Amino acid sequence: MWIRIDDTVEVISGDDRGVRGRVLRVDRKQGRVVVEGVNIVLKHVRRSRQARQGGRLSKERPIDISNVMLVCPSCKQRTRVGARFLADGSKVRYCKKCDANIGQISRPKSRSQTANA
Ligand SMILES: [Zn+2]
Repeated sequence: MWIRIDDTVEVISGDDRGVRGRVLRVDRKQGRVVVEGVNIVLKHVRRSRQARQGGRLSKERPIDISNVMLVCPSCKQRTRVGARFLADGSKVRYCKKCDANIGQISRPKSRSQTANA
């Protein structure tokens, strides 16, 4: 699963199905992501020394990474993502719908860097 911070994703299951948002955090170990505006939990906070205002505090909670799909920045559809190598040896993500490259995963191999120099 090639989801990274600042990607736009669409929720595909649960109460927030169909909602799109920006990825704020990725927890690869637990396989969870925090998406802006998704899975918001309101916490009621009583006025205290820590929370002078009191009232309601809204906070995004992590959701399972399998509940989101990447939204392709090129075709704006939710899509599955593949990974492939370019001629220079760098690894990029690509959209399986429109075939557009969506950002580098790893840098070009040093071999080709020296070849260009
Ligand atoms: Zn696309």
